[in-house]
Amino acid sequence: MSIVQDNLERLRIVASLDGIGDQDLALLGEPALISKTDLDVNGNKYPAWRILYSRDLGPGKGGIRFHQDVSEDEVQSLAFWMALKNSLADIPYGGAKGGVKFDPKKADKAELEAVSRAYARAFQPVLGQDKDVPAPDVYTNSQTMAWILDEYEKIVGHHEPGMITGKPVELGGIKLRSDSTAQGGYFIAQEMVKEFLPNKAAKDIKVAVQGFGNAGLFMAEKLFADGFKIVATSDSRGGIFKESGLDVKALSDFKAEANSVGDFKDGQAISNEELLELDVDILVLAALENQITALNADKIKAKHIIELANGPVDLAADKILDAAGKVIVPDILANSGGVIVSYFEWAQNRTGQILDEEYLKSLLEKKMRANWGRMLSLYKEKSGISLRQAAYILAVRRILAAKHWRGQK
Ligand code: NAD
Repeated sequence: MSIVQDNLERLRIVASLDGIGDQDLALLGEPALISKTDLDVNGNKYPAWRILYSRDLGPGKGGIRFHQDVSEDEVQSLAFWMALKNSLADIPYGGAKGGVKFDPKKADKAELEAVSRAYARAFQPVLGQDKDVPAPDVYTNSQTMAWILDEYEKIVGHHEPGMITGKPVELGGIKLRSDSTAQGGYFIAQEMVKEFLPNKAAKDIKVAVQGFGNAGLFMAEKLFADGFKIVATSDSRGGIFKESGLDVKALSDFKAEANSVGDFKDGQAISNEELLELDVDILVLAALENQITALNADKIKAKHIIELANGPVDLAADKILDAAGKVIVPDILANSGGVIVSYFEWAQNRTGQILDEEYLKSLLEKKMRANWGRMLSLYKEKSGISLRQAAYILAVRRILAAKHWRGQK
């Protein structure tokens, strides 16, 4: 099943749980706008997409991914999840996502810049601070955002920093954005521990983190600083395990020198598959989608899973894990810290007001904990549903309310 079909099935299940009729369900089933082209870069043609899933709550919002496996199915699914995430987070955005299918690891800086600028030229008509606002995602970063902003502004002929978030600070970005996804995820991890592991001290909680990039690395660092025992982590080239706990600080220094975590000496090399199947208290998924599927779901020993990546557990796996009594904190809540801080950045760009970072950090914390609380209340109220289903119900209700106010039927 494609990821899009998986999502439609999830929507159908949620609709039946919340008494949402077929007419309303149909309003949610299709993206608002699919833009697709081939980017022509140094004689190569790279398929590229921008998909706006919904614009009912505000302009589109969602990252741009550079990866050799990007497909329309993936971008549309990521755009769908952004629509739900932004709705659940209670921020004034629809949902969108972009992607370019090429291998950024094989590209030098000049080519990365050429791809970024070609992307801005191709999609400029559908982007803008009031239309659709991109941000970083897998293998894109603040430099990518800077190139896209610069190219976009050259075309439109005026400054418009609010057309993109995750920018360098000098171009209107905010410092807090760099680790905000993990920061938000960390607040959620604390809430999850309070609710589901109330009698365990951090030092006795074993954690494995799949993915050691923007989301995974900062999450591992924050949990490590808080005393959690990080026993394993991995990147695309392999993983590392140490029963008594890894020195995450030393590991991130090692990774910063372009090494794979799998080559770190103070631990035992493991594969990504092995990492997923470790007997840990919390498994943090922070790499890519479809990491747990029907093929490995019954081998997962972790009782608690936090989805920092988007869509790391597919629908078939979700059903198997639910039946096994696993607690899964869904992506649309767990990784929403990034887009919440993107919203602060966008609002600051638009008003010209510069807000204190400590204040913004406290706002992020308040929002993450409140959104966890709303999800948990519904989960308890409608007994028998999963945390994901509770989160989806809240998100879908807000989007449908906006559609109804706009007169859509
Ligand atoms: P990134 O490019 O910074 O890091 C990705 C990490 O995953 C890298 O360490 C990479 O080596 C690793 N990886 C890739 N393939 C892997 C595999 N098969 N097995 C194990 N590790 C693998 O990307 P990121 O921004 O950290 O994004 C990771 C996930 O978090 C994605 O699903 C992304 O959509 C999601 N996310 C990111 C943000 C953000 O602000 N960066 C916000 C919300 C969600």
